[in-house]
Amino acid sequence: MKVTTPTWSHGATIDFKAPNRKVDTVFVHCSASDKANHDDVSVMRNWHVNGNGWNDVGYHYFITKAGDIQTGRPVEKTPAAQKGYNTGTIAICLHGLKEELFTQKQFESLIAFCKSIGAAYPDKKIRFRGHREVANKACPVFKYKVVLGLDSSGYMTGSTSTAPITASPGEPPPRADKTTQILDKGKPVLILQSVLVLLGADLKIDGLMGQNTSGALRDFQKKRSLHTENGLDDKTRAALIKALGEEATTLKKPDKGNKVKALQQLLKLAGSNKLVVDGDFGNKTQTAVEEFQTRKQINATSKGAADAKTQQALARELWK
Ligand SMILES: [Zn+2]
Repeated sequence: MKVTTPTWSHGATIDFKAPNRKVDTVFVHCSASDKANHDDVSVMRNWHVNGNGWNDVGYHYFITKAGDIQTGRPVEKTPAAQKGYNTGTIAICLHGLKEELFTQKQFESLIAFCKSIGAAYPDKKIRFRGHREVANKACPVFKYKVVLGLDSSGYMTGSTSTAPITASPGEPPPRADKTTQILDKGKPVLILQSVLVLLGADLKIDGLMGQNTSGALRDFQKKRSLHTENGLDDKTRAALIKALGEEATTLKKPDKGNKVKALQQLLKLAGSNKLVVDGDFGNKTQTAVEEFQTRKQINATSKGAADAKTQQALARELWK
């Protein structure tokens, strides 16, 4: 779904012009997604505007799998891409998550683009850095230092490489949490919304990643000093599961309300396919809870009542 005309198609001469604001560093990112229908900056813009509640996409440029360079946020504006490190930077995002799925064309365009940016500043040296240098995350996943031929300070040395690289001495391994999930809609969002509701968030469980859901997720992350810009990463998932075990209130017959709905939604996704998500804890919900407790050998305080342990096990099961 290419809807955005590239500013520079793959192979075209890149005539990058320096913005009026001061720039000393270029940050390289990945989109943390490999889906064909995410291969366009408009998708990033949708995530950042409708998902995060920002006024534009956070990156200045997006490089598609075909190596086309699309423009996102105007380069005259400061990006929203590296928390605490946005001033004085240009943010480039390559579409990709798995290292082996980045394309040679993307690397060719990235190299040509970075050279062009460097050339736009004849009187000084521009540094090129990966997002993971300033955040606890794997972004941009691929070996950008090898691709761009960077020295230890992040300056281009001239020895670039466009081969998708599998091993390289001296390059630190990417950080552990490679599984950051960029949520869009559907089951992953239903799980997240349900867990947040069980932890007290006031949310509609509709499977759509809107401002309320991302806001509730950010609130949770802020309270626990977790990175918020990652979305739902490994650390946040682990913290949500832990919180359920510690804070969730027991739900049982004849409880009613949104928390019951959240519980029913999780039970349904965990295998009780026929359970109706109506917010009314009746016999069928009780049976579904009992079945889950038996299957997972959960020794609940009272069988058929969904205590904190049971709710925690549900989240763990769905996120395993
Ligand atoms: Zn990033």
